[in-house]
Amino acid sequence: LTYADYIKAHIRTVSDWPQPGVQFRDITPLLQDPKTFRVLVDIFVHRYMDQRVDMVAGLDARGFILGSVVAYELNVGFVPIRKKGKLPFTTIAEQYELEYGSATVEVHADACTPGQRFVVIDDLIATGGTMTAGVKLLRRLGADIVEAGAIVDLPELGGSQVIRDAGIPLFTVCDFA
Ligand code: IMP
Repeated sequence: LTYADYIKAHIRTVSDWPQPGVQFRDITPLLQDPKTFRVLVDIFVHRYMDQRVDMVAGLDARGFILGSVVAYELNVGFVPIRKKGKLPFTTIAEQYELEYGSATVEVHADACTPGQRFVVIDDLIATGGTMTAGVKLLRRLGADIVEAGAIVDLPELGGSQVIRDAGIPLFTVCDFA
């Protein structure tokens, strides 16, 4: 059993949530088990420990759970990229299209100094819109994106390909086809 198989075995699939027809990949069992949570964090920490990372950014909200622990272990700071209207100070925003409508993510304008090396973390890549928008925000502030990282890829939705085609290096631990 590889670490990826071990992680994947602790992700729960919930059918018809939040809408009929959706197979929601739920990472809470992975977080709830202390051994799998530790293995998960260690995969990311070992991957980035020699990459001269300056900062970890996490995407609202499940990206905060993994991202903040990885930041702590790498001994670097953490930046939250949040949904519209949640951050109190001056922000910059990126809007992106969803299947129905659009969404906006924001980051504080002083979250990055030009040239800082960022890893950007979320739980899952579906269409790739959220991760791409988060990376765009940080790049507007002058960040150097070491890599985007997520636990799960849903390759059939094409998001991971869109992200890589946009010139964003991407790492995911496991995928559900
Ligand atoms: P995307 O922007 O279409 O790639 O969607 C990814 C975002 O939606 C991430 O922030 C995920 O947390 C969330 N998301 C979409 N589908 C799922 C799922 O099946 N499980 C957990 N999160 C999901």
